[in-house]
Amino acid sequence: VVRAVLVCGGAGYIGSHMAKCLATRGYAVTVLDNLATGHREAVRWGDLIEADLLDRPSLERVFSGRQFDAVMHFCARSLVGESMVRPYDYYANNVIGTLNLFEAMRHSGVDRLVFSSTAAIFGEPVAETIDEMHPKQPINPYGASKLMVERILSDAAQAHGLRSVALRYFNAAGASPDGDIGESHRPETHLIPNVLKAVLGQGPGLKVFGDDYATPDGTCVRDYVHVDDLAQAHELALGYMDEHEGAHAFNLGNGNGFSVRQVIEAAGRVTGRDVPFEVAPRRAGDPAVLVAASGKARRELGWAPVHESIESIIESAWRWHQSPAF
Ligand code: UDP
Repeated sequence: VVRAVLVCGGAGYIGSHMAKCLATRGYAVTVLDNLATGHREAVRWGDLIEADLLDRPSLERVFSGRQFDAVMHFCARSLVGESMVRPYDYYANNVIGTLNLFEAMRHSGVDRLVFSSTAAIFGEPVAETIDEMHPKQPINPYGASKLMVERILSDAAQAHGLRSVALRYFNAAGASPDGDIGESHRPETHLIPNVLKAVLGQGPGLKVFGDDYATPDGTCVRDYVHVDDLAQAHELALGYMDEHEGAHAFNLGNGNGFSVRQVIEAAGRVTGRDVPFEVAPRRAGDPAVLVAASGKARRELGWAPVHESIESIIESAWRWHQSPAF
């Protein structure tokens, strides 16, 4: 049974919500982060170890001094657009860094891992909703780097007995309901934070990247899933690994697609304010539609997301963005 968890990337957006979730449920949490994109102020549940996955000696020291039952691995470069122009950074951080982590885990006998994967491993969808059997043909280096790690996980299961669950997030969104942590990237590239910043008159102004996609209103459709619902799935994955050997993977989304325009309209309703925006050219690497079929996670993990509506997701994000702590 897992009690002590190392949360790699726990100073970041999803990782910090994970650390809070684990700590409030009685786990012993240690956060490892290089603070390249994470926030020291977001690490409030558990100790922070500043270390970089590309620095193997310091990584080995993290494991030699402590005992962990499982690792949750959120460290990654995660921007589709950036990955198109800086592919080497993506393969170095997301693949080589991850391999270093797996080696360090193996040397210290840690044999359980929950891995942050992504809908971007699927590429251009060939079905209305994406289940686990959907073809995996990433169209950007970010998705390719995550798919490589999923492949490594199945090889690691066979060769070294590593137990793992890869969770493929669709669009992580929202913030902790009490407003103490939330989404904060510099620069911010994600839709919902940018929409809320536009409402607040902050940032460079909201651009809608493309309105000529083959979708009902021409803007891209995504499946937004609340960050705390993602955290719940990770905790369930720890229990799943008690019962299941091998490498497993689940898609995590709400199963409802919302277009960029629909998100803007929902934000208008939630905030009661105008959302100024302009239409801009498409962003490289963006598929038109990404919507999850998450039946497998619901059935096998017992996952039951609680923030089902886009309004409830935006509402929690809005609370954070009105007075962000970092
Ligand atoms: N998007 C947009 N304007 C922004 C940020 C995002 O139009 O300022 C669009 C983007 O092209 C994509 C969707 O919103 O279709 C979600 O993008 P985001 O970066 O939030 O997540 P991703 O799908 O890349 O993981």
